[in-house]
Amino acid sequence: MSGTGVLGSVPAKLYIGGVWTEASSGERRDVINPADASKIADVPWATTEDVDRAVAAARAAFDDGRWSALSGRERSRVLLKVAALIRERAEELAQAESADVGKPILFTRIIDVPTAVEQFEYFAALAQTIDGSVRETPLPAFSYVRREPLGVVGAITPFNFPIILSSSKLAPALAAGNTIVHKPAEDTPLSALILAQIFEDAGLPAGVYNLVTGAGAELGDRIVRHPDVDALAFTGSTAVGKKVAAAAGEQLKPIMTELGGNAANIVFADADLDVAVGAVINAFVYNTGQFCMAGPRLLVERPIHDTLVGILAGAVPNVPLGRPSDPSTVIGPVVSERQLARIESYVEQARRDGGQVVVGGERLELDGGYYYKPTIITGLPNEASAVQEEVFGPVLTVQAFDTEEEAIRLANSTRYGLAAGVQTGSIARAIRVTKALKAGVQWVNGWAMLDPSVPFGGYKDSGIGRESGPEALLNYTRTKSVTISVPPAS
Ligand code: NAD
Repeated sequence: MSGTGVLGSVPAKLYIGGVWTEASSGERRDVINPADASKIADVPWATTEDVDRAVAAARAAFDDGRWSALSGRERSRVLLKVAALIRERAEELAQAESADVGKPILFTRIIDVPTAVEQFEYFAALAQTIDGSVRETPLPAFSYVRREPLGVVGAITPFNFPIILSSSKLAPALAAGNTIVHKPAEDTPLSALILAQIFEDAGLPAGVYNLVTGAGAELGDRIVRHPDVDALAFTGSTAVGKKVAAAAGEQLKPIMTELGGNAANIVFADADLDVAVGAVINAFVYNTGQFCMAGPRLLVERPIHDTLVGILAGAVPNVPLGRPSDPSTVIGPVVSERQLARIESYVEQARRDGGQVVVGGERLELDGGYYYKPTIITGLPNEASAVQEEVFGPVLTVQAFDTEEEAIRLANSTRYGLAAGVQTGSIARAIRVTKALKAGVQWVNGWAMLDPSVPFGGYKDSGIGRESGPEALLNYTRTKSVTISVPPAS
C-alpha cells in the first residue's frame, strides 16, 4: 500500500540517499490501528542490507560536507522550512499519529504535532549559535576550540511518541550538521514517513536523512554496530538501551540514551488539592500511561490519603475513555495486544501482592481495540512489581507516607530516575525535596510541563544524556582544540 489511506500521497517506502525505495527483500508488513485492530497501511520490512545502504548514503553525505559544511544560518533556514511544512501538514500528521499509536486526536492536534514544530524552530535558532572559543594560555601560541558535528548519527525511536521523539533527536542532530539513519519503532512508523517527505520538500540535501522501517532487534542492532555510524541516539526501554549501550561501548561510540521511567508523584498535606488531583490524573492517564515520564507511583501524606483516594476514585472513571478519533476522548487504547496483556499481568500480580483495586482493573471491550480502564491500586508493599517496575499503562499505585524523609526514600527506591513531581504549598519544601530526589526532570504543582528549551533526561537506569535545550545540541557535537605556535618576535 502506498499513496492511499492515512498516508495520503506519502510514499510508504524506505527513504535512502534521497530516493524512495522498497526493502531489498521486497517484504512488507501491515501497520495496525490499535483502536480497532484494523490495517491502516503497510510498510517495507527492511533488511540489514538496507541499513548498510542507508549508512553508506549518510556517510557520503556527511563526508562531502553537503550539510556539515553549510553555515549554521544555512542549516537553520532549512530547519525552519521543515517546521513550517509540519505546521502546514499538521492535521494530516495528527490524523496519522492518532491512527498509528491510538492517541486521542485531541492530543495529537494540540501536543504531539505542535511540539515537533517547536523542536525544529528551537534548534533552527540554536543552529546559528554554534561557536567555539579562544583560550588564553602561557604558551607562545594561539589556542582555539571548535565545535564539530559527530558525523553519521543512528537514531532509534520508540512507539509511544513517534513524532515528538523523532523531532527531539533529528532537530538538534541536524542543527549541529550531522547526517542521520533513523529507525522508528516497528509498530508506529507512519509519522517518520511523512517527516521524510517533509525533509525532501524542505530542501534537505539527499542522504542527510535516511529512513529504514522494520524489525527493531535486527535493524537496530545493525545500526548500532555499523562501523560507519559515528554516534547513537536511542530512546526506548532500559533493557534494550543497556544492550545498545554495551554494543556502542565496544566501539567507543558516543551514545545518548533516554530509557524507562517510573516516577513518584508526592502529594503533601499542604498541597492545593484541586491542583494536585489534576496533576495526579494527568500523570498516569496521559498517553494511556504509556509515557516514560508518567507518574504511576502516587505517594500521599497519610492525613490526606483517604480523602485523595476518594476524590480520585470518583473522578477517574469520568475521564473520557474511548475512540481516539472522537475529539472528546482523553484516554485511548494502548498500542498493541502485547502491551494490553502486559498491563493485565501486572494488575493480576498486584492483586496477588495484596493490592486493592479501587477503580478499573479490567479491559474495556470496544471495537476490538486494545482498551484498558484507568486503574487505581492501594495497599501494595513497596517491593510489589507494580510499584517497582514500569507497567506502561494507565495504572496508579498509591502509598501513604508519614514524613518528608520517608517520601524521599520511597520516591528514590526504584532503579529508575527520569521524572518526579512534588505537590506542596511550601516553596521551601519544594526546593528541599526536589534537591533530594534522584530524577532528571521534576515538576512542582503540576505534571509534564515541557519545553524544547528545558533539558530532559534521566538519572540511574533512565539513561545518559539530555534532550532539549542547548545541552541537546552540544550532545551532537564534539570539540576540537587547535594550538598554533606563535614564536615571540625576534
Ligand atoms: P523498545 O526498547 O522495545 O524499542 C525502542 C526502539 O528500539 C524501537 O525502535 C525498537 O525497534 C528498537 N529496538 C528493539 N530491539 C533493539 C535492539 N536489539 N537493538 C537496537 N534497537 C532495538 O521500547 P518501546 O516499547 O518502543 O518504548 C517504550 C519504552 O521506551 C519504555 O521503557 C519508555 O519508558 C521508554 N521511553 C523513554 C523515553 C525517555 O525520554 N526517557 C521516552 C519515550 C519512551
